[in-house]
Amino acid sequence: MKYADFYQRSIVTPEQFWQDEAALIDWNTPFTQVLDYANPPFARWFVGGRTNLCHNAVDRWCLPGGQGDKPALIAVSTETNTERSYSFKELHAEVQRFAAMMQSLGVRKGDRVLIYMPMIAEAAFAMLACARIGAVHSVVFGGFAANSLASRIDDAKPVLIVSADAGSRNGKAIPYKPLLDEAIALSSAKPSRVLLVDRGLAPMERVEGRDVDCAALRASHLAAQVPVTWLESNEPSYILYTSGTTGKPKGVQRDVGGYAVALAASMKYNFCGNAGETFFATSDIGWVVGHSYIVYGPLIAGMATIMYEGLPICPDPGIWWSIVEKYKVTRMFSAPTAIRVLRKQEPQFMRKYDKSSLKALYLAGEPLDETTSSWIAGELGVPIIDNYWQTETGWPILSIAKGIEDAPTKLGSPGVAMYGYKVKLVNESTGVECSANEKGVVMIEGPLPPGCMQTVYGNDQRFVDTYWTESNGKMLYSTFDWGVRDADGYYFILGRTDDVINVAGHRLGTREIEESITSHPNVSEVAVVGVEDKLKGQVAVAFAILKDANAATSEQDVMAVVDRQLGAVARPARVYFVTQLPKTRSGKLLRRSIQAICEGRNPGDLTSIEDPASLQQIQRALEK
Ligand code: ATP
Ligand code: MG
Repeated sequence: MKYADFYQRSIVTPEQFWQDEAALIDWNTPFTQVLDYANPPFARWFVGGRTNLCHNAVDRWCLPGGQGDKPALIAVSTETNTERSYSFKELHAEVQRFAAMMQSLGVRKGDRVLIYMPMIAEAAFAMLACARIGAVHSVVFGGFAANSLASRIDDAKPVLIVSADAGSRNGKAIPYKPLLDEAIALSSAKPSRVLLVDRGLAPMERVEGRDVDCAALRASHLAAQVPVTWLESNEPSYILYTSGTTGKPKGVQRDVGGYAVALAASMKYNFCGNAGETFFATSDIGWVVGHSYIVYGPLIAGMATIMYEGLPICPDPGIWWSIVEKYKVTRMFSAPTAIRVLRKQEPQFMRKYDKSSLKALYLAGEPLDETTSSWIAGELGVPIIDNYWQTETGWPILSIAKGIEDAPTKLGSPGVAMYGYKVKLVNESTGVECSANEKGVVMIEGPLPPGCMQTVYGNDQRFVDTYWTESNGKMLYSTFDWGVRDADGYYFILGRTDDVINVAGHRLGTREIEESITSHPNVSEVAVVGVEDKLKGQVAVAFAILKDANAATSEQDVMAVVDRQLGAVARPARVYFVTQLPKTRSGKLLRRSIQAICEGRNPGDLTSIEDPASLQQIQRALEK
């Protein structure tokens, strides 16, 4: 089928389109209305239908004659050198045990459960157990500092927190329990119970009457049978915070039915996963990719999913590819930042393994530069499929739906608008829709398709005020990203709206300049920010990491590349060389903090920063 026809149908007759897609999942009670958009921008999908995420991810694969004995969850840790595979039936049993434990600790439908866990199987059990009994999970990235955790505790007011003694990074235990205790002390909404998985990595102090040992409690629920709680499609399934790249994270609330349908559709049309195959997303359950494409999406499609705890380069840079070989991974999902790390390593490590099972690599989270994309395509010999989306949307907004049509990808572009998304480019100052090749803000006309956020948790007004504007009687959702579309309908993301640089009246996306700089053979990574300038309004300033620090690459060499490709107007005023760039824990460049330091301001909210030392490098580079 032509993708253009498929897309048109999703836009012109969305209710028929999504009604058909809804057949991809099991419903306990059929819905009576496909879409209720009586109160824009709030969209309610599959009204009156009753379903359950855990049922669709686990139970339905365990039917007699089904694939209950096939692998469902494969937990690999190169931190603790452990590997454990759970079949769908085993997962079914573990999830029921977890659900029973939660119920015994007082968790009821609609209650929030905060999950602060490393990448271990119990984290997935806990998420699925919540889904099973209708509790709302709020997964907080493991290892987040106490104050970040405290603000999320206060926001969600969980009755239960599920956590562990420690995570581990590069072979070093990172104790979670002291952070958790500190966070609970800082918060005003105290959970009554804390369920703790003891991995034996770090000693834990227990709070009497509050803290419960998971292994001990599990032992009394070994034969637990906890039936699925059927939920109305629009009841909440979870809360998840955005990455905090541009400021204070927003608590995204997701539904049940719409999310299940959207994930099932994306697994079919985007990720082309078949039941019985293996999916490997290298993200963390603390991020949206982890929710959609480690836990729920692959399982809803009947695929085995890999949960990997460890670095991409330990014990050596071949580790991911050894997993691909061993578990015959067919579809893999990662982030450009991880691929850039691999590009800096010796290639023989990844060449050692048989990767012939792999059919495609999907990348998302940050702009995919041409150098990185071409390099990994050459190494793997499979299509590299960029996909652009947000925590808010839960599944791709822009990509190439290879499951519909084998349309070409274009280097530097995540692709075209995905089914269900009425993507618009809007001129920032006039509010008028852009024509081909005119830059503008990427917006989506409401209603958002199934799977997208319902609201900001506990704050409908913030949802409306933050994301929506009205234009000619239509509600428009802003992605806060800046882009351009070519004549074939392919979008190119140029940066975040906050990151657009205005040099003497020329509007430039940081991304355009970064893309150009990374085409220099000795640059592995770069961040470009706009810095206030008396004469020009703003100038671009670049911070680059060199592949080989000993090679003679000068500031002028880098500038010359930009001159040649984009013209002198885009040339950075300065190019500084550093060995590390400030990033969020999910690997996104913290341009706002770099910009603030360049302008002599306070770097702002740093709760999500990976390593504060990276900011000192920026500071020192400027002082030189
Ligand atoms: P916050 O909203 O808290 O500032 P964040 O936007 O980084 O944080 P996420 O929802 O994790 O939080 O990231 C979504 C953003 O990541 C997008 O809006 C876009 O800026 C960027 N992004 C994601 N995928 C791509 C991609 N394929 N190409 C370019 N940019 C991407
Ligand atoms: Mg965002």
